[in-house]
Amino acid sequence: MTLVMKFGGTSVGSAEAMERTAGLVRRSLETWPQVVVVASAMNGITDLLLQGARTAAAGQATYQELAQTLQERHHQAIEGLLPAGEERERLAAEIDRFVDRFAALCRAVLVLGELTPRALDAISSMGEQMSIRILAAHLRYLGQPAEAVDASELVVTDNNFQSATPLMGQTTAQTEARLRPLLARGAVPVVTGFIGATVSRVTTTLGRGGSDYSAAILGQALQAKEVWIWTDVDGVMTADPRLVAEARTIPVLSYREVAELAYYGAKVLHPKTIRPCVENNIPLRIKNTFNPNHPGTVIVPEVGESNGKIKAVTAIKKLSLITIEGKGMIGVPGIAARTFGAVARGRVSVLLITQASSEQSICFTVPEEVSDPIVAGLEEEFAVELRRRDIDRVWAERPVAIITVVGAGMRGTPGIAGRLFSAVGQAGVNIIAIAQGSSECSVSMVVAEPDTAAAEKAIHSLIVNGD
Ligand code: ADP
Ligand code: ASP
Ligand code: MG
Repeated sequence: MTLVMKFGGTSVGSAEAMERTAGLVRRSLETWPQVVVVASAMNGITDLLLQGARTAAAGQATYQELAQTLQERHHQAIEGLLPAGEERERLAAEIDRFVDRFAALCRAVLVLGELTPRALDAISSMGEQMSIRILAAHLRYLGQPAEAVDASELVVTDNNFQSATPLMGQTTAQTEARLRPLLARGAVPVVTGFIGATVSRVTTTLGRGGSDYSAAILGQALQAKEVWIWTDVDGVMTADPRLVAEARTIPVLSYREVAELAYYGAKVLHPKTIRPCVENNIPLRIKNTFNPNHPGTVIVPEVGESNGKIKAVTAIKKLSLITIEGKGMIGVPGIAARTFGAVARGRVSVLLITQASSEQSICFTVPEEVSDPIVAGLEEEFAVELRRRDIDRVWAERPVAIITVVGAGMRGTPGIAGRLFSAVGQAGVNIIAIAQGSSECSVSMVVAEPDTAAAEKAIHSLIVNGD
């Protein structure tokens, strides 16, 4: 019976946090015979590493200062967690080698004036490699056998650097071969989240926030009984507690509901985490390292539809809503295919699409930073239609935000959309576009970005009032 537990950046962010985390690992071993730990980098470290790389590419040597901060943060943790002695020295020297490597890679980027996705992954993967070594050493110091394991030895991915996809056959074989012997002798593998390696052993990363996904990948590979995500809030909440003070924990959610929430911006869980869990029927729990007795949230295959109506609201900002409109589009086949073909060629993923039934317009959202090239690409694609005036214009409205409301029970509840839109209207917010998720457990609306907080609060008050 294996439990995979993932600890996020704040859960390993300091000596004190790592001590708590180690305590939770030991406690879990009282009930679970085999525990695999997946850890993120100390909070803020991945950002720091990326900043060093990016500024170097822009010709600035800020990495020297950043290397110092990197070293200080990790040395401080080591000093708080291990007594002076050989093991502490050895670990500090190991950290220093990573720090030197960071500086050397940034220097190379500076000299070359070029930063490839592959180099970005080599640099940004170092945070996890450092944190797991410290956590594993602390567990050993507490008398718990533990071994730091780089996921580059376990998770085999394609070579899509920055957002790699695991090849599950090979990943399962390597994970079994490497971790089973450790587990069999009662040791806790402490594995890097976020990273993998190509077949030829070049380091990749799974995308920002990807350590949650790592836990699910290992859960699948080891046929884990459960996967637990330890973070800094009491589970999945009705809204981002940093933005809505009244947000409260949702005790039970379905995979579908949490998938919609994660996809539409709730940072508490990486959206790719869900699929390996659903497909292998692995229950997923989200818990708070800093309030471990709180039950948090459990994610299960289905929840009764009577179980609440609107359950949560989430938002994604910094988007652009692109519209193609023209009377000549009506009934012309292929416009949508050509539109999204042009967008896909730019390797941009579209978050939301709506089309009026009159077929006079198609709207979709993309990240704001790619708005101009997408509009230009579409104008090129439809140059003939624009000249003929079949298409009147292609334009972007920005910045906008997508507000998404989630709840499986909304499906069978008449009038819910009315209540939702009137609450938003009463808050003085204009809804620019609307889309309903095909799973019918989410409704998304596009609003001007400055209206985000007002719309979220208005919707959240419906949740609080049990509407
Ligand atoms: P970790 O480093 O543990 O992975 P993250 O910062 O990635 O933590 O995710 C946890 C954060 O997600 C919380 O601190 C919270 O601000 C944010 N968050 C956004 N939406 C939600 C939500 N609906 N429920 C809980 N937390 C949310
Ligand atoms: N450390 C990585 C990040 O900051 C992965 C994670 O924390 O999940 O994106
Ligand atoms: Mg996270």
